[in-house]
Amino acid sequence: MDDAFQYSDEFGPLKIIHLYEPSLALKAVLVVDNVAMGPSIGGIRMAVDVTTEECVRLARAMTFKNAAAGLPHGGGKAVICADPKMNKPDKEALIRAFAQGLRNEETYIFAPDMGVDEECMAWIRDEVGRVVGLPYVFGGIPLDKLGATGWGLTQVVDVVAKDRGFKVKGARFVVQGFGAVGKHVSRFLVEKGALLVGVSDSCGAICNKSGLDVDQLLALKAEGKSVTEYADATQISSDGLVSLECDVWIPAARPDVIHEGNVQSLNTKVMVQGANIPCTLEAEEYLHQHGVLCIPDFIANAGGVICAAMEYHGAAQAAAFQAIEDKIRRNTEQVLKRVNEQSMLPREAAVALAKKRLNKAMSYRRYSLFSTAPHFL
Ligand code: NAD
Repeated sequence: MDDAFQYSDEFGPLKIIHLYEPSLALKAVLVVDNVAMGPSIGGIRMAVDVTTEECVRLARAMTFKNAAAGLPHGGGKAVICADPKMNKPDKEALIRAFAQGLRNEETYIFAPDMGVDEECMAWIRDEVGRVVGLPYVFGGIPLDKLGATGWGLTQVVDVVAKDRGFKVKGARFVVQGFGAVGKHVSRFLVEKGALLVGVSDSCGAICNKSGLDVDQLLALKAEGKSVTEYADATQISSDGLVSLECDVWIPAARPDVIHEGNVQSLNTKVMVQGANIPCTLEAEEYLHQHGVLCIPDFIANAGGVICAAMEYHGAAQAAAFQAIEDKIRRNTEQVLKRVNEQSMLPREAAVALAKKRLNKAMSYRRYSLFSTAPHFL
C-alpha cells in the first residue's frame, strides 16, 4: 500500500492509471494530478524510455503551470511507452486504443507532447473528443507553427529587461535548441531589435558577436540542415555556448543542461527557461546568490498550454496570443515582486503563487482532490 502512494502529497496525484493491452503492445500511464482548477490538461508523451515517475513529475508541473497561468484547468500528463517513429498504421492503432482505454476519464483533456502531433490528436478526437492541439480544420490553433511558447518567452524577456534596467532593443541573447520553442523566441526577439549572438541544435553551436540572421537560420532548418551550417559564424562547443557573454540566456532543448558543474561559467544577466527543468535546483540557487535572475520554466514557457486552453474554449488565434501576453506578463511581474521584495528564489516565488491559487480553489470543494461533479466539462 505504501508503494502505491509513494508520490502522494496534499496536491495529488488524484489518479494514476496504468493502461495495458498486450495485443497491441500498448503500455501507457495517465496521471491526473489535481483538478481543483478544472479538468486537467497535459500532453501525451510517446517515447521508449518513459516512466511512471516521469509522468508523475510532469503532471505536477502541469498543475503548477496551469494554476499559475490562471487557467480553469488542473494538471495531468500521459505517457505511452513506444517508439514515436513506428509506422503510421501501427501508431494510429495504438493511439486509438490508448484513447479508448481512457474514454471515461473525464477529468483529463488530451493534449500533444513529444512524439505526438496534431494528426494523433485528430484520431483521439474521433474516438473520444476532449482534445486540444487539433488540426486547423477542427478549429485547432497550431501552437508550434505559430510559436505560442516563443511568444510567451518574449513577453518574459520584455518584463525582466525593464526590471533589470536594460532595453530589449540591442540586448544580446543566446538560445540553446532551435526547435519549436527556440526558433520562434529568436524570431520574436530579433523583431524587437535584440541580437541573437549564439545558438545551438543537436549537431552543435555557433556564435557571432555582431548577431546571427534568424531568417537564414530558419531557412537552414526548413531544408533539414543544422544551424552549424550557417556561413558567417564561429563554431563553438556546447560549453562555449553556456559561457557566451549575453544579457539573456534561453535554454530551449533538454532538461538539466545547467548544473553544478557548469553554472559558474554562465555569463548572463538573466535566464529565461524555455525548456522544462533545464537547470538543477542547486544551479538555480547558485544563480540567485550571484545576482542572475532565472525565470522558471512553468512561468516562462506556459504559452503553449495557454494557447491550448484557449483553443479548447473556442477562442481564435488572435485572442489566444493576447491571453498569452496578458497572463505571462502578469505572472512574471508577480514573481519579480516577490523576488525583489522578499529576496526569494524565483522558483519558490512561482511555486508560492501557484500554490496560493490551488489552495484557494481547493478550499471551495467538498473533497480537496476528488472531483464531485461533472461541472467542468
Ligand atoms: P523541438 O524538438 O521542436 O526542438 C528541440 C531543439 O533542441 C532542436 O533544435 C534540437 O536539435 C535541439 N537539441 C536537442 N538536443 C540538444 C542539445 N543537446 N543541445 C542543443 N540543442 C539540442 O522541441 P520544442 O518543442 O522546441 O521543445 C524544447 C523544450 O521546450 C522541451 O524541453 C519542451 O518540453 C519544452 N517546451 C516546449 C513547449 C512547446 O510549446 N513546444 C512548451 C513548453 C515547454
